[in-house]
Amino acid sequence: FIIPDWSGFTKHIEDFYWKCKSNSEGKVASYIPQLARMNPDYWGVSVCTIDGQRFSIGDTSIPFTLQSCSKPLTYAIALDRLGQEVVHQYVGQEPSGRNFNELVLDYNKKPHNPMINAGAILVCSLLKSLIKPEMTLAEKFDFTVNYFKKLAGGENLGFNNAIFLSEREAADRNYALGFYMREHNCYPDKSNLKEILDFYFQCCSMEANCDTMAVVAATLANGGICPITEEKVLKPDSVRDVLSLMHSCGMYDYSGQFAFKVGIPAKSGVSGSLLVVIPNVMGICTWSPPLDPLGNSCRGVQFCEELVSEFNFHSTYYDHRYDNL
Ligand code: GLN
Repeated sequence: FIIPDWSGFTKHIEDFYWKCKSNSEGKVASYIPQLARMNPDYWGVSVCTIDGQRFSIGDTSIPFTLQSCSKPLTYAIALDRLGQEVVHQYVGQEPSGRNFNELVLDYNKKPHNPMINAGAILVCSLLKSLIKPEMTLAEKFDFTVNYFKKLAGGENLGFNNAIFLSEREAADRNYALGFYMREHNCYPDKSNLKEILDFYFQCCSMEANCDTMAVVAATLANGGICPITEEKVLKPDSVRDVLSLMHSCGMYDYSGQFAFKVGIPAKSGVSGSLLVVIPNVMGICTWSPPLDPLGNSCRGVQFCEELVSEFNFHSTYYDHRYDNL
């Protein structure tokens, strides 16, 4: 096993869990009523290693919507089906240094990266019109859900229609981003903006729990092979690109500091979820709705800091991996 002393390791995870539980900072997202009603006390942590060992503590079986945690997944599908070259004709790889929904494009008039709203909306347009363009909207939705499910080892993945309807209702900024990108010819030919945005809101409104999302993170930690089913879901090259951009752009405007302090690829979402990938070791999902002013889960960020203060998971930490080269 990749973690030889499993019970010793999970004991530490439990300690971190209880430490973070007493953290009462942050505010639950309030831009739609369904998220505003979330109980701020929810707190769950799930771990899944690349050899399929699992551990969870707290509220790990209550579903939440993926929100921005869907961004690395749709980006992964686009890379896997279209290749890096095609995808990055349309979207960049730089941190934007701005808010996740800021009305701004890069110097080439492309979205900065796929982890912010503009980039994710663009990636949705690629999924819609370049991969099997003959598919109907319903088929394209099923195609995407099935991909997410394969990443999750076949575990439960739902869709929250109330959240979808609210997202679409409260979408002035996303529409503004959508039109701004259309003005600059960002989309592939024959794209339909309303359909692209609906598809983006649908991806944000997919629903899963911590246990399931830890499997998704573990599939990314394992080079695209799901550790539960052993199915090869993504190519290693696609996973490498996803993790690179999670590392530099996954935590909104805290990404630089997070990469400095914690040094692991991660992606947060506005429902309070956090996907954490320790490449070649394990995937972790934490969920706690209260967010800091930049939009990251307060308990989730604290958990990651506790984790790397105990274990040398920081990706630039010196170890002896290459001593025998
Ligand atoms: N649905 C949200 C939006 O598009 C998702 C963003 C997020 O999770 N930060 O604004």
